[in-house]
Amino acid sequence: MTGRQTVYLTRDVPQEGIDRLEEECEVVVWEEKTAPPHDTLVEELAECEAAALFCTVSDVVDAEVLDASPALEVVGTMSVGYDHVDLEAAAERDIPVGYTPGVLSETTADFGWALLMAAARRVTEADHYVHDGEWETWGPKILLGRDVFDATLGVVGLGSIGTAFARRAAGFDMDVCYTATEPKEECEAELAEYGIDAEFCELDDLLERSDYVSLHVPLDDETAGLIGEHELDLMGEDAVLVNTARGEVVDTDALEAALEEDRIRHAALDVTDPEPLPADHSLLDYAPEKLTIAPHIGSASVETRTEMAVMTADNILAGLRGEPMPNSATENAGVEE
Ligand code: NAP
Repeated sequence: MTGRQTVYLTRDVPQEGIDRLEEECEVVVWEEKTAPPHDTLVEELAECEAAALFCTVSDVVDAEVLDASPALEVVGTMSVGYDHVDLEAAAERDIPVGYTPGVLSETTADFGWALLMAAARRVTEADHYVHDGEWETWGPKILLGRDVFDATLGVVGLGSIGTAFARRAAGFDMDVCYTATEPKEECEAELAEYGIDAEFCELDDLLERSDYVSLHVPLDDETAGLIGEHELDLMGEDAVLVNTARGEVVDTDALEAALEEDRIRHAALDVTDPEPLPADHSLLDYAPEKLTIAPHIGSASVETRTEMAVMTADNILAGLRGEPMPNSATENAGVEE
């Protein structure tokens, strides 16, 4: 025994994060492709007497997990979203929870635009078209998409990612409107530097006006099911919905009905409810014509995932030393420890 504390990782993450932890701790990594099932996670934490849990969005960190190891002092999630961690239960046990804000905003905004552009210009369909041997000639009416430049962009949630996403609209000369819990003067000022006059409006108004609607709110009681039948109806038949936030922000049944009845043109999703989406899920019947879909890879660049792993390690190490975490979800959510 080294006497060093043990950090349990639910995934094999970029090595730089593991190296950082190994400078001060023992590290146990769950090496499987999928996250440990809940009961297995509880057993694993107990078995290695983990002092810290390094988790991701795929893990449900509830009271049972927090109680699994009597030695558990700290949780660090390698994500900016923390809806999968019971912060109150952690605080009741004096377990601080770290997260990774800011570092993945640009990368996620990039991917949101990849989805938006793919939907607008039918990139996935075009790729299938060529691979399927259908490309016999140039055709004046083949795979017509819709323009992005000069269109109206509606950003739902003008926070870190929403602002990074909106900033990219400058190159497309788009009109930009947004919703948030209140007008975001700092974000507006940042966007103004890029020539974007972002207008704060109510959600219904935004949905009616926008050709492209992009979701960037966190998942909480207020935002679960935020986009349902009424909201999709307001969007209209030419509108595109992009979701890089959380699957539960959109009512999946209502979305399927809207796609079925051509009440919106296209949905481009990085996140789904449920997640992962089973291969036989009825939503997939709409791909690729009406649906572009990705397996929650918004932050999946080498650079960003490496930075996220190191940030998570730094949060955990600070917590284990009894120091304030550089990035505390507990504090950000206003949960009293
Ligand atoms: P953030 O900086 O906290 O921004 C969230 C924004 O949403 C804030 O402006 C917030 O306003 C606003 N908001 C909250 N509740 C709202 C409501 N009910 N109606 C309208 N606006 C509301 O968070 P972020 O870093 O941009 O991340 C946003 C979310 O993206 C994360 O929580 C995560 O779930 C998701 N995400 C996904 C991926 C991916 O891989 N696809 C990657 C990173 C993040 P206030 O500040 O006034 O509350």
